[in-house]
Amino acid sequence: MFEARGLMVFYENMLALNNVSLQVEAKRIIGIFGANSAGKSTLMYTLSGIILDMKRKEEMAGGERITVLGQVLLEGQDIMGFKPSRRARQGLVLCPERRRIFPESTVLENLLIGGYLATARQKKETLDYVFQIFPALVPLKNREGGFLSGGEQQMLAIGRALMAQPRILMLDEPLMGLSPLVQAMLVRSIREIRNQRGITILVSEQYARPLIPIIDYGYILENGTAVLEGNRQDLLDNPDVRSAYFGV
Ligand code: ATP
Repeated sequence: MFEARGLMVFYENMLALNNVSLQVEAKRIIGIFGANSAGKSTLMYTLSGIILDMKRKEEMAGGERITVLGQVLLEGQDIMGFKPSRRARQGLVLCPERRRIFPESTVLENLLIGGYLATARQKKETLDYVFQIFPALVPLKNREGGFLSGGEQQMLAIGRALMAQPRILMLDEPLMGLSPLVQAMLVRSIREIRNQRGITILVSEQYARPLIPIIDYGYILENGTAVLEGNRQDLLDNPDVRSAYFGV
């Protein structure tokens, strides 16, 4: 079980997350939906621990004050004080918004960088798996990441995250800017990853519609507050949610 309790994040005096709590059971796909600026990325940064790095950098640079409160619990242990690298070793892996692949490294190099925490055996096995679920990457192995299309970069970003051996994989807006066809392919892959690898997946998006068929549970974030949560049907049954996030 992966859990967040009462997360509050302030950027200076601006409240970006307001008392957000989540409960994530193993091997589920959980959707986090919200408009621009709702707090989706801040939530992912807080769960993965990257917010602590941001906070420290800001402090060193004399920049804005970032305040983080609440608990992040993994199997009952509060890991809020743990650095992102330690959380990653425990299986909490973030695939950040806008892909963030290394543009000058090849596809293969990008994947191997993702596997820096893995054993040689895990690296080999996972590399084979990544090329199996994303066969489009096979002929691109030696191509520089920067020359890939948006969809290929997203496959690479997910592949790189898989190389880190996640138990809980967080995908921040993986469908952003991609065509409906590519989105549908990625959505199928996300479901396969959960089914075949038993990885718990948290996925954020502005629009819920492409993800609705695969989520087990979802949260709606508005201005940093989780205003609604529920299973697929609960979300679909809510008229405000239907029009705002599903376009139906
Ligand atoms: P998007 O879909 O645009 O990525 P989001 O739901 O991921 O949005 P966040 O990026 O988490 O939202 O932003 C939540 C709020 O916090 C926004 O109002 C944003 O402007 C603000 N914010 C995010 N990062 C910072 C920062 N480093 N300093 C100040 N404010 C920030």
